[in-house]
Amino acid sequence: MKLLRVDMDQLLVKWEPVPALYERLGGRALIARLLLEEVPATCDALGPHNKLIIAPGLLGGWSVSAAGRLSVGGKSPLTGGVKEANAGGTAGDALGRLDIKAVVGEGQPARNSWHILYIHEDTAELLPAGDVQGLGTYATSDRLQERFGPDSSVISIGQAGEGLMCGAGVCVTGEGNQRSNHAARGGLGAVMGSKGLKAIVIDKPQAKPLPLADEQLFRSAARTYAQKLINDPKLGRSGSQHLYGTASIVAAVNEIGSLPTRNFSAGSFEASPQLRGTVLREVTLARGGEAGTRCMHGCVIACRNVYADEEGKAIVGTLQYETISLVGSNLGLDNLDAVARLNYMCNDFGLDTIETGAALGVAVEAGLAKFGDLDSLLALLEQVGQGTALGRVIGNGVVTAGRVLGVRRVPACLGQAMPGYDPRSLKGNGVTYATSPQGADHTAGNAFGARNEVNPLGVQGQKELSLKLQIIAAMLDSTGLCLFARPPIIADPQLMVDMLNGIYGWGWTKEEFDRFNRDVLRTELEFNRRAGITAADYRIPEYMREEPLPPHNVVFDVPDADLDAVFETL
Ligand code: SF4
Repeated sequence: MKLLRVDMDQLLVKWEPVPALYERLGGRALIARLLLEEVPATCDALGPHNKLIIAPGLLGGWSVSAAGRLSVGGKSPLTGGVKEANAGGTAGDALGRLDIKAVVGEGQPARNSWHILYIHEDTAELLPAGDVQGLGTYATSDRLQERFGPDSSVISIGQAGEGLMCGAGVCVTGEGNQRSNHAARGGLGAVMGSKGLKAIVIDKPQAKPLPLADEQLFRSAARTYAQKLINDPKLGRSGSQHLYGTASIVAAVNEIGSLPTRNFSAGSFEASPQLRGTVLREVTLARGGEAGTRCMHGCVIACRNVYADEEGKAIVGTLQYETISLVGSNLGLDNLDAVARLNYMCNDFGLDTIETGAALGVAVEAGLAKFGDLDSLLALLEQVGQGTALGRVIGNGVVTAGRVLGVRRVPACLGQAMPGYDPRSLKGNGVTYATSPQGADHTAGNAFGARNEVNPLGVQGQKELSLKLQIIAAMLDSTGLCLFARPPIIADPQLMVDMLNGIYGWGWTKEEFDRFNRDVLRTELEFNRRAGITAADYRIPEYMREEPLPPHNVVFDVPDADLDAVFETL
């Protein structure tokens, strides 16, 4: 395998063999180690010393179902610490097939110098961005696929990333004409913008058989894993994940009182029935949209959808739970059409819908728009694309919005907005938000699926649960496996060990693999420690510890001592 280093200062590309230290790493694990080794932890996240790292997981390129996710990483301008965000789509698989361990963007060009990195088989070159500079992610992807071919994968940023706004994510094209796969969190779109990289285009690799260390071991484990996905009652063809996508959980999150509602002032929303996955499917199919689509080739779950307007014209694909909660119930919007319009605009500007939905919630509390009033919210969001001062406030995320607009109720940990689970009534997630080196991020350890194991409203057992989930998340993010495809691996980790040993011949045991996953967290925590981040920086905001959240009227009351002890047994 090889590394592709892209020097944005000298505008040079360089292939190099993978250093021994990085050989057995992929995705999030590689990002954590590379940051620790090569990036000064206290550097300016938008300056020349930070690096933009784009890496497939260890399973990338091997046609394992739902395992082609692409990790994007760097020091986060939002949290000031380590960040990895990942996206579905075709780019992770393409890089894996090309034997590319990672693309590493380094240095910084002169201001307003914009480039595209074009990768074709064993060659790479930087090209002037030309007429795609200034465009949203939809038009950027369209133009680049017209130019380089419809099968190429495009990784791009929109106006938010170009404007170095800290709510900016990185957009990745998916199977067919899909556009909206986003490595959304942590402001990595701004890091990409700071490198003057508007897009990376990867030509579809020739289908070349890559050597496997133990073909039989790999194929047998991959087949068993895929069959277990197909047979899983939630993930298979009659399962809720396939039929309704992530929106299938709207009712249950509302039920436990954790659905962000009107800037996290309540945990249930009276109009939540209109936002459910069943409604999403019904409306989608009635209008000629699509349900049960895939973001990447070979995923047997196929959880996605293409949501269409009343004329049957696609608005956005896919509408996801986190977006429905943060730009839906959190803004008091009672219908999916409104959510889809805001979602489209966020996608086009290249904004994280979680960060932006939270920032808009704070803006409403400041009196700049009204809950439930789509027009006033659209008018605010439009300003991000226009780059006005107020638009830049929203585009820089919820903490900036709170500070500038004088709002104290800011749902964030470590500078990053909370996703769609209020930590007061899903305390396991609160522990994750308040301890994860990734900041408030449900994908770092989501306790929602474990709500029947540990009482979400209680304190007991939360720190142990969060640690367990954080280790699993590190495994998923380092192998490139989709979060939704985790059940067979959690039930039988040997399947993952066999797939990796079958590909690479490392002879890992389950215990060694567990150590590998724990090391990801250790490395990230060390980077954050070097960056000067302390326990107090991770904490749940004071108001959530003091103001009861309806309908259960609970506060976040997991003691600091428990939070401080989460990693004691790591
Ligand atoms: S489950 Fe959904 S998000 Fe995950 S890989 Fe499959 S289609 Fe993509």
